[in-house]
Amino acid sequence: MTKTPERIAVCPGTYDPVTVGHVDIIEQAAALFDRVIVAVGVNPSKKPMFPLEQRLEMLREAVSHLPNVEVDSFDGLTVEYARSKGARFLVRGLRMLSDFEYEFQQVIFNRILAPEITTVFFTARTEYLYLSSTMVRHLAQFDAVPPNVVPPAVREALARMADDGDG
Ligand code: ADP
Repeated sequence: MTKTPERIAVCPGTYDPVTVGHVDIIEQAAALFDRVIVAVGVNPSKKPMFPLEQRLEMLREAVSHLPNVEVDSFDGLTVEYARSKGARFLVRGLRMLSDFEYEFQQVIFNRILAPEITTVFFTARTEYLYLSSTMVRHLAQFDAVPPNVVPPAVREALARMADDGDG
């Protein structure tokens, strides 16, 4: 009897920082795939608020309840990274219509570059539809991030930053 190959999915993103919206998408992926790799892309043209190591640490803590999920980082093309991991699926989250155009462009180019890799979209829960890392970073400047939109590790990091700012 031939063994079915493990279904491995990569959830690529910047995760600057991880939000409960990301965790929701990762949980949906973990329920569907055998193995999920949450991969933080290193994009030289983006200047992140949180250094890579800290983003990885916060993600690891945020997904520690999911036994089939691991966290990694990569640079270069997402499809090349997925290939190197033997992953045949890319997972992305969709919020509002505004996500569509960019995501579709990515899907088309990724399919040209790697036809064997399929992109799967999960939709955000209604309460997370308007949640983004950009909004979290913006509110963080004013120490005003609502505590329930980020996982505890991010909440702690933001509180430390606010303390440092005070002192
Ligand atoms: P990128 O910089 O590649 O867009 P992000 O870290 O911002 O990476 O997001 C990673 C993935 O998570 C993207 O597919 C994005 O659409 C999705 N995502 C982000 N926030 C949410 C949310 N609140 N609900 C659902 N999906 C989300």
